Amino acid sequence: MDIEEIFKLIKNLSPSDRDLITRAFAFAQKAHKGQKRYSGEDYIVHPFNVALLLAEFETDAETIAAGLLHDTIENSDISAKELEKEFGPAVAFLVEGVTKLGKLKYQGAKRHSESLRKLFVAMAEDIRVIMIRLADRLHNVRTLQYVPKEKQKRIALETIELYAPLANRLGVWKMKGRLEDASFPFAYPEDYQKVVDLRKTKGKETVKRLQKVYRVLQKAITEKGLKDFEIDYRLKYLYSLYTKLLRKNMDINDVYDISALRVVVRTTEECYQVLGIVHSLWRPITGRLKDYIANPKPNGYQSIHTAVFIGDGAIVEIQIRTKQMQHEAEYGIASHVVYDEKSKKNKTAKASKNIQWIQDLINWQKEIKDGEKEKFVEELRRNFFHDRIFVFTPKGEVVELPESATPIDFAYAIHSDIGNHASGAKINDKMSHLDAPLANGDLVEILTNKNSGPRAKWLNFVKTTDAKRHIRAYLHLKRQKGEVAFNSLS
Ligand code: MN
Repeated sequence: MDIEEIFKLIKNLSPSDRDLITRAFAFAQKAHKGQKRYSGEDYIVHPFNVALLLAEFETDAETIAAGLLHDTIENSDISAKELEKEFGPAVAFLVEGVTKLGKLKYQGAKRHSESLRKLFVAMAEDIRVIMIRLADRLHNVRTLQYVPKEKQKRIALETIELYAPLANRLGVWKMKGRLEDASFPFAYPEDYQKVVDLRKTKGKETVKRLQKVYRVLQKAITEKGLKDFEIDYRLKYLYSLYTKLLRKNMDINDVYDISALRVVVRTTEECYQVLGIVHSLWRPITGRLKDYIANPKPNGYQSIHTAVFIGDGAIVEIQIRTKQMQHEAEYGIASHVVYDEKSKKNKTAKASKNIQWIQDLINWQKEIKDGEKEKFVEELRRNFFHDRIFVFTPKGEVVELPESATPIDFAYAIHSDIGNHASGAKINDKMSHLDAPLANGDLVEILTNKNSGPRAKWLNFVKTTDAKRHIRAYLHLKRQKGEVAFNSLS
């Protein structure tokens, strides 16, 4: 445990940052003196590792200092006031925020609603609290083997069901993968072993194949005169592979992206250039080309994905992105939203765009009455954490919806007028019911009729909050008008 390890991870470390972190470390060491972890190590090892993770995820000095101090209120007799006096209001606020979250009690998969709501409220106040909480959780699941057996599974499940989706939604992809993989063996021990074995056998074969593709591609790209590009390959995160296997009846031969080759270039233009090179070398698989550069995922993720036949029936997934996109995919919101004082100017616009859904959520949460909190969280789970699908308009625009959304959800996602006058739907050119569940990649066309309007029964099958609100508003308005007409008769 050497504070220099933390400093090494910080770019442009200023003397005042160095001072703040050094003081926080000394303070935490003193506060936790004599305390031990389950592992038998000195307690300070934990906050130190949390700070180390926060530095790796490029958070600012205040967050790293708060990471070092995050358990001082909870585990020793330090007060928020003392922290404020010592380190200023921002650090004290962060530590207090994490402490409050620490008191949440997990009540099982279906009942972590309240925790979820609190996480969101905390996030609304300062997203750095969540980053500390995620780093805290990651170090805790990484040391889960020392925790009493009866607690292990609960903590692992909570991490997979609550914290990992949150990291994912914030675009901190690397954090998501690590949280899941560290929890997996404790959450589902038997399946974990199965997946490890499957990946081991299949993985070897795959790596050989990737190395071959790597060499061919390296040569071809160099010949086209591109400079400063990097190619690497990686195996899918274990838990991520597991969820895919579950959808494919555990048949690993149906999983094509067990591994992927990644090409990282300088500019967006070069991404498309490399895509051209790839497709001229190997035949692409229909339907597997995804352009998340032109159509980023809602969490801001950008990259081109394609899959190609490389002979002998073998398939390789290739991802192409710029250095900047690569960085953001790994560190997500952490990399550019709150902390980046030095380059605030050019990044603010983008950051606020990425964080818009959080803003929406906060506004929405404010509108919710106390008695409806359960409902709020249910909607939250469905709208923000459930698996998403991408469907297309006839013009080829992408609309992102929760899984098993219907044409009505789609219609409202495009425009409330289209939703309010939807009279029929075509899915992939076939007439379909308005409540038919949409699948990823469907092409959807909505037929409208200006005389038709929303029906109350739509509320029984629509999936998005947006659609529900519009339908309710319309029905409410209609009722009011009805009342007025009735009154005028009397
Ligand atoms: Mn902790």
